[in-house]
Order: sequence, then structure tokens, then C-alpha cells
Amino acid sequence: MAMNKLESIFEKFINKSSIFLNHEVLRHDFIPDELPHREEEILKFGEILAPSLRGLKCSNLFVYGKTGTGKTAVARYVLRQLQKKSLELNRKVTICYVNCRTIGTEYRILSSMCSAIGVKIPFTGLATAEVLKRFKTRINDLNVSFIVALDEVDVLVKNHGDDMLYALTRINEELSQSKVSVIGISNDLYFKDMLDPRVISSLSEEEIVFKPYTAEQIKDILLQRVRLAFQPNSFPESTLNFCAALAAAEHGDARRALDLVRVAGEIAERKGEKIVREEHVQEAQRKIEHDRVFEVLSSLPLHSKILLYSAYMLSKNNNEATTGSLYDVYRVLCERFNVEALTQRRVNSLLTELAMLGILDARIVNLGRYGRTKKIRVNVSEETFKKVFSTDERLKFLGLSGK
Ligand code: ADP
Ligand code: MG
Repeated sequence: MAMNKLESIFEKFINKSSIFLNHEVLRHDFIPDELPHREEEILKFGEILAPSLRGLKCSNLFVYGKTGTGKTAVARYVLRQLQKKSLELNRKVTICYVNCRTIGTEYRILSSMCSAIGVKIPFTGLATAEVLKRFKTRINDLNVSFIVALDEVDVLVKNHGDDMLYALTRINEELSQSKVSVIGISNDLYFKDMLDPRVISSLSEEEIVFKPYTAEQIKDILLQRVRLAFQPNSFPESTLNFCAALAAAEHGDARRALDLVRVAGEIAERKGEKIVREEHVQEAQRKIEHDRVFEVLSSLPLHSKILLYSAYMLSKNNNEATTGSLYDVYRVLCERFNVEALTQRRVNSLLTELAMLGILDARIVNLGRYGRTKKIRVNVSEETFKKVFSTDERLKFLGLSGK
């Protein structure tokens, strides 16, 4: 019986005509041949990097804008074209693109730079300064224009400070032949506040700001991608407009728009429908939001989770949580977990963090002559909440059974 059912799932899958033509083009790392509404940024990028083709040093470049405004796509697009041109003209231009969020450490970033010029670095074991030294020694012999693009560089600086950036922007002082230029890309608009003024002034020799897309612009981006991704007529314009409007409301985020298109398509496909409709987009929106919250919650440190659980328990018992009552419950739970409770002060700063992530709502209430307190509410659906807590080994004994 089970076998037959399984068989029929496979059969259905094989025989079904997919509404997708090419699912790959909806992946995050796909870069289309054209990037609508980013011509100006592409040309400016190109102008800044062009001197490398004549063996000159390009200005360092600092790029910033909110997520989904096309920074990564434009950078990779221009670097790819530049590499192509340099090969065509037989010019020595070496390009190294790294994403600092995925690559993570200074050591690994410097290793990637070494690897781009043929220097092998062991996975671990050297001091970071030694890796940098090996890079300098080798690059100096090569007589190349070296361009390193540090995407999501704000993450690197938040975790490890700006020492490596400082070293990279100074490196040319010690090189006689080669030139090194740095492109820093940040999703955080306030990134500069974290930097030493000397790093700012050398990194921002040039700057490009990416503005959020309007609904119209997102629509053009989606049109281009939907044509490549879906069978003709299976993704109507009305559905597309709906996706564009939702994403535009969300700070003009093209990634969100493309996610909506992809997930809505998958939902329609799974339901065996031939056309992607608004209701599929709405369902996609809910799923994406759920996944996002789930991810944020799952990666919280233990104490934040305990706090959240305390707030949840209070709200379950119809007690509005205040900072005081929350702390009491938190302390009791910590005892049950056999972990040492943090001070009220530390807990308050964790609360502020949770509020900033949108997981909690914290509202300051005036109690007249009793002073002021914060009223706290959990902003996460019970279903998501239970799922997270039931997947965390350490919290399992609380007996929250999620699905
Ligand atoms: P950012 O790096 O600014 O967060 P990305 O470059 O990753 O944004 O863009 C998010 C998604 O939207 C990517 O899948 C990218 O291909 C797509 N995208 C962004 N801008 C455009 C554009 N102008 N044309 C086509 N696709 C775009
Ligand atoms: Mg990016």
C-alpha cells in the first residue's frame, strides 16, 4: 500500500509538466546578462576599475545600500566583464571576490586572496599576520593590478574589527610593482560609524550608493526573470505586479521579490496548477516570513531563548510581562536549566536586542509615582515558537511538542 502511494508520487512527478522552464535562474547567485535600472551604477563601477587595465592603481571603492538593491549582482557583473576584458587584452588584472559573511574570518579571507595569486595556505596553523606577509611577498613579484572585493564587509568588521581593512588599504605603501585596490560592500548604512577615520578616508576614495528599487523597477526585474524561469503564460502580469508591490513595500528589496516569485511558483507547482496566482504569492509571503523568524529564533543564544520562553509563559497565563515579572520567571527557569542567571542589566540589554529583531514588542509604560516599566509582548506565532523550542536539544525537556 505504502509502496503504491510512493510509486504514484514518483509517477506524478515524472509525468507532470512543470510550470518552470528553468528553476536555476531564480537562485540567489544567478546573475542575468542584463541588470535593469542599474546602468548608472554599472558604468560608475566600470570607470573606477578601468585604470587596472592599464596597470594603474584604481581608487578604493566603498559601496553601500540596503539588502536586495543589487550591490552583489552589480559588483560580480562588472568584475566578470573586467576579467574578460583583461584576458582579451592580455593585461595582468587579478580579481578576488569574497563574501565576508560566508568566508567569516580574516584568516580565510586572506587565504582566498593568496589563492587568487597561486599561494597555497594551510587551512589553519599560521598567524594571520604571516598569511598577509606571504600575500605581500608574492604579489610584489607579480606586477599585477589586484582587485579584492569584500562583500558584506560590515559583518567582518562587526565580528573582528577593522584591522585587516586598515592593513589592506595601506598595503601599496610596501609594494613596488603591483597595485592592490579594495572594494568594500556593505548592507549596513551606518557601517562607517564602526570604522577608524583613517580606514574610512582610504576606503571611500570613491563611493556608490545603491537606492532601493521602486515597485515599477522591481516589476521590470521580475519580468526579465519570469520570462527565463517559467513556461509562457504561467506567471501572469497581475501576479507579478502583486509580487512587485509587496517587495517595494519592504524597502524595495529585489531579493524578496524574487523569493516571492520562486516560492509562489513552487507552491503552485506542488498543487498541480498551471498558473501562479495571487493566493500562491500570499502563501509564499507567509512561508518566507515564517522561515525568516524561524532562522532568527533558532540562532539565538540560550539566555535569549530562555527569556523568550519566559515571556511566552507569562502571556500564556494572561499576565502581561513587565521587565520585573519577566526577570522573576527567567530566574526560575535558569534554575531549572541549571544555568546561572544573568544580571537584570544584561537581561535588559538582551530584551532590547530581541525587540530590535522584531521578536518582542517592548512598550514603556508610566506607572505614575511607581516609576516606569516596560510591557513586553512576544511577536511570534505559537507554531513557529514551538517548532524552534522543540528542535533545541537543551530546551527539549520543557516538553513543548512542536510539529
Ligand atoms: P544586495 O547585494 O544589494 O543585497 P543582490 O545583488 O544580491 O542585492 O540582489 C538581490 C537579488 O536580486 C539577486 O538575486 C539579484 O540577481 C537580483 N537583482 C538585483 N538587482 C537586479 C537588477 N537590476 N536586475 C536583475 N536582477 C537584480
Ligand atoms: Mg549582497
